[in-house]
Amino acid sequence: MVVFDYTCSKCNITEERLVNHEEKDNQYCSICGSKMKREFTNPKLDIFQEYIDYYLDDHPIYIKSKKQKEKLMLEKGVWYYNDFHNDIK
Ligand SMILES: [Zn+2]
Repeated sequence: MVVFDYTCSKCNITEERLVNHEEKDNQYCSICGSKMKREFTNPKLDIFQEYIDYYLDDHPIYIKSKKQKEKLMLEKGVWYYNDFHNDIK
């Protein structure tokens, strides 16, 4: 399973979806039913790499998933610079 951003040009919406490899090019808009376009703008979302995060807390945290990271960031109220770029450590 991978996460991609999909855009519906009709509704002008972008959705993040967890999809099977076989279905990654066959995603349809939940509002209008049009085929959605897969975005390549944020390759970080395609594959999450496990890594040690040195910025999230006082001590390094081993990040195993995007969900875990989001949860931690929410808990700590952190939203840092790197997240607007693709340079995961
Ligand atoms: Zn649509």
